[in-house]
Amino acid sequence: MHILFATSEATPLIKTGGLADVSGALPPALREIGLDCRMLLPGYSSVLDKLGTAVVVARLSGMVGGYDARLLLGTLPGSDTPLYVLDAQRAFIRQGGPYADAEGQDYQDNALRFALLSQTAARLASPDSPLEWRADIVHCNDWQTGLAPAYLHYLGRPAASVMTVHNLAYQGIFPPYSLAQLDLPADSFSISGLEYYGNLSYLKAGLFYADRLTTVSPSYAVEIGQEPLGMGMQGLLTARGADLRGILNGIDSGEWNPSSDLHLPGAYSQRAPAGKKRCKQKLQEEMGLDADAEAPLFGVIARMTHQKGLDLVLAVAEGIIHRGGQLVMLGTGDKAIEQAVRATVAAHPGRAACFIGYDEGLSHRIEAGADSFLMPSRFEPCGLNQMYSLRYGTPPIVHATGGLRDTVEDGVTGFVFEEATPHALWLAVERALDLYADKAAWKKMMLAGMSRDFSWEHSAKSYAALYAEILSGRAA
Ligand code: ADP
Repeated sequence: MHILFATSEATPLIKTGGLADVSGALPPALREIGLDCRMLLPGYSSVLDKLGTAVVVARLSGMVGGYDARLLLGTLPGSDTPLYVLDAQRAFIRQGGPYADAEGQDYQDNALRFALLSQTAARLASPDSPLEWRADIVHCNDWQTGLAPAYLHYLGRPAASVMTVHNLAYQGIFPPYSLAQLDLPADSFSISGLEYYGNLSYLKAGLFYADRLTTVSPSYAVEIGQEPLGMGMQGLLTARGADLRGILNGIDSGEWNPSSDLHLPGAYSQRAPAGKKRCKQKLQEEMGLDADAEAPLFGVIARMTHQKGLDLVLAVAEGIIHRGGQLVMLGTGDKAIEQAVRATVAAHPGRAACFIGYDEGLSHRIEAGADSFLMPSRFEPCGLNQMYSLRYGTPPIVHATGGLRDTVEDGVTGFVFEEATPHALWLAVERALDLYADKAAWKKMMLAGMSRDFSWEHSAKSYAALYAEILSGRAA
């Protein structure tokens, strides 16, 4: 099976969130089990810089936006996954991030930039491909590649497509006049197409035209069939319910392994957990927290958006500190949330600390050095940090939603609360504080979490089964 995994970010080349982690891990895991999976990624500066050896394998002409584009072939660093990089400087070389400038403003030409990515994916699966290798299935991820199933549809469906929703909140919405630039027929602007409440939605295009839909946890697959988590797509998702499946993400257990993690000041494992104490001591030192081995230390790592419930964390911060605990937060995002986090930290020197920004190493040190991890997301398609926390012996406290519900077992590996309210979170924090005081019981919970297996192999097998089902359906 030839699978083209089309994505707008992938670790270790470019990352803004969980999509990058999935993209960096799933294609290699698919190859491990024998599929010929290759990746397509835009040539942002950071991708070109970190790519290493790559060769030009094709020039693409006649693409949307009149872009001058070529395809480079390299490999995803750290794996043998062939990586096609869409090198189109005018589209992808920018000062800021992949989607927005340094001030957080979306680029004006995102509609065209990601139409180019999607159209390229479709072309690599069509008879018109400039490569000898041709995809049987294009696996698309979120709105950035959502137009690929539409392009494939209008090419006569030369290959099948899968659309994976990593987060339904990002819908790739653009004004209707953008359609004129996309090389798609005018009649695609319809409720049976890519029209969405008077605008275009690239995500909706994917959800409408792809052969199969997946999302990243079984619970989220159910939740998005209704308001509020359907976020306007619930009607379409319900209509396509038979084609929708929830497949839980794995974690990169090489990258996230406390016994070999180079970001940590001390290694530890289930059998030899002592190194975690050193990680905590060093984290307190690094973040300017009081040196206090006994203080229950709560960690938070999140994009600072409404979704992640940082306001709930700040609402219980006082209580945590009042009960002798400490709080460390890492993240960046909405300026108002960042400001509120800074204010809480300023009010509690030595007991609360934050780093506003993106820091991969610190995220590992928080997972290792904290005693417990707070993740009160209002919704969470899958979530990775709670799984990292389990693996790092840092029992997570999570809201019962999406992948959080599917991965944390209440009272066994962590704490699960039902309502996304400060009160419900606080009751869960109190349960954690009480258990933490009982050293043997806490250790039992830590070890239970550390023994859970969230490796990618399991997820990869589910995707492989889905691909096989699609192809046998097409053959029939
Ligand atoms: P989402 O994809 O919604 O952001 P996930 O929990 O699925 O949430 O994945 C987030 C990923 O991004 C995790 O690997 C997390 O550690 C990482 N991350 C988020 N914010 C930061 C940050 N400020 N610094 C370092 N890593 C971060």
